Amino acid sequence: MIDQQIKAVIRDIHDFPKPGIVFKDITPILKEPGLCNAIVDAFINQLNGTRVDVVAGVESRGFLFGLTLANKLGVPFVPVRKAGKLPYAIKQKVYELEYGTATIELHTDAFEPGQHVLIHDDLLATGGTVTAASELIQEMGGIIAGFSFVIGLNFLNGKERIASTSNKIIVLAE
Ligand code: 5GP
Repeated sequence: MIDQQIKAVIRDIHDFPKPGIVFKDITPILKEPGLCNAIVDAFINQLNGTRVDVVAGVESRGFLFGLTLANKLGVPFVPVRKAGKLPYAIKQKVYELEYGTATIELHTDAFEPGQHVLIHDDLLATGGTVTAASELIQEMGGIIAGFSFVIGLNFLNGKERIASTSNKIIVLAE
């Protein structure tokens, strides 16, 4: 099963990026082309025909599978980036973190109003990042097609947080 394959290769890094945090390192997945393909196939399988016009990948690990997924679906990929990285005209969203705030941005021409946008990231923790992305996309006239993640940390209740935005939440390993 794909969840077992993912869990077998990701590794826990203690005290990264700060003391007390156990960080799930997904980079070993990237060394296994067969598993990378299987991950993208699993997303497509679980989308099960859901309308997706655009895949929005969240900086930076959301770019890894987000682009391949979009390519395989035959739809555009757009990057959701941190402040100051996108070169063209942007729309932005400021959102709350545990301490302070963060800003995400999209190009103003990322998609057309009324298009169905799938939000993709490597990992779902509290859901704060993808909630901000979904709010920005909706403010720009997009419809949230769903969310896809390689890994979900269940104990942080991210799924509950995003469930009111879309009932299409794909988490391959949790
Ligand atoms: P959230 O906003 O859901 O609390 O956090 C998810 C975001 O933080 C994602 O963009 C994800 O890449 C990053 N993140 C948080 N914790 C981890 C982790 O343990 N491993 C990885 N790979 N990313 C994490």
